[in-house]
Amino acid sequence: MRIDILTLFPGMFQGPFTESIIKRAIGKGEVEIHLHDIRDYSEDKHKRVDDYPFGGGAGMVMQIGPIARVIDKLKSEREYDHIIYMSPDGQRFDQKEANRLSLSENIILLCGHYKGVDQRVRDHYITHEISIGDYVLSGGELAAAVVVDAIVRLLPGVIGDETSALTDSFQDNLLAPPVYTRPSDYNGWKVPDVLLSGNDKLIDEWREQQALERTRQLRPDLLDE
Ligand code: SAH
Repeated sequence: MRIDILTLFPGMFQGPFTESIIKRAIGKGEVEIHLHDIRDYSEDKHKRVDDYPFGGGAGMVMQIGPIARVIDKLKSEREYDHIIYMSPDGQRFDQKEANRLSLSENIILLCGHYKGVDQRVRDHYITHEISIGDYVLSGGELAAAVVVDAIVRLLPGVIGDETSALTDSFQDNLLAPPVYTRPSDYNGWKVPDVLLSGNDKLIDEWREQQALERTRQLRPDLLDE
């Protein structure tokens, strides 16, 4: 899979992409992530990429020109399954959407800043808009990093134990059951006996029942879906 990220602040991805599972996925060639600095596509002599909003009002708006030039260039090189704008008024991101996007060959993620991007970018280039929640971030970079993390961990071969990502919360509309590790007794706080029983069938049943119970208590809305 290939992910192209369009941003004014490529440095913000240092860290999220250079540690842990994403770092490993890049190293193994399971995913290619390309960062494009939108400022490099400005034709202004001061490398300007934003301007005052028509009609007045607070804040600056990202101009269409530089963004259009990056997207046109990328589209001339390969086909993209999705060209996504990170936006608080987009479709709320969830596990289903992560699963769906993880099946893509090539995607573009556009990160806004300031008041956002000129509406014409959204009207003419964007296939789909994603929000990571009902709050406003100062830029799309952290949101894009969240989306990339959720997608990349689903790619085949990225997480060591093949079944691991499938037993996480929200797959099957259930929250994950509790997990324990050694020691089995910490100052009198004991691990449930069944997990030490060695009986796989009983353990599976217990986990299923715990997942159901936890979902009923914490997220009954998931069971209605
Ligand atoms: N004026 C806009 C907010 C702009 S915030 C509005 O009121 O809707 C600046 C940028 O941060 C946006 O262009 C978007 O790319 C990003 N962003 C902010 N909140 C986000 C969220 N919840 N999910 C995804 N991206 C977000």
